[in-house]
Amino acid sequence: MKKEDCIFCKIAGGDIPSSTVYEDADFRAIMDISPANKGHVIILPKDHFANVFEIPEDLAGKAFQIAKKIAKAEKELFNCDGVNILQNNGEAAGQTVFHFHVHVIPRYTKDTVNVTWKQGAYGEGEAAKIAEELKARL
Ligand code: 5GP
Ligand code: ZN
Repeated sequence: MKKEDCIFCKIAGGDIPSSTVYEDADFRAIMDISPANKGHVIILPKDHFANVFEIPEDLAGKAFQIAKKIAKAEKELFNCDGVNILQNNGEAAGQTVFHFHVHVIPRYTKDTVNVTWKQGAYGEGEAAKIAEELKARL
């Protein structure tokens, strides 16, 4: 299903033309309009899912398979030092377009792209307790 006012629905469905890197029945991968580095690709499902909570598991898995192919192509083309595969859910997590998408970004040792965070810490037994609580919800 498409969402009427969603730009990524229009791009994924081909109603708005885009530089397409990959297309199949379920997905279109395009060049990000404001790339973190040149060659930054975003992978869009053709149906509208706002985020990882809405997309079915099989399609989420397929998105990562496509991301792997694109990462390999970026590595070959740019001979980059690394590749980030990223996916944001919710404004708090940096999502700005609320149609699920996966970023595939070529990275270089001395680039200025910032996807790092200050490392936190757990108290005694805290990580194990949270692991159990998460496990119970899977
Ligand atoms: P988010 O912040 O939601 O994870 O990522 C949204 C991404 O979509 C951003 O990297 C932004 O540059 C890209 N973007 C937003 N609008 C358009 C558009 O109209 N066309 C393309 N190709 N990319 C877009
Ligand atoms: Zn959409």
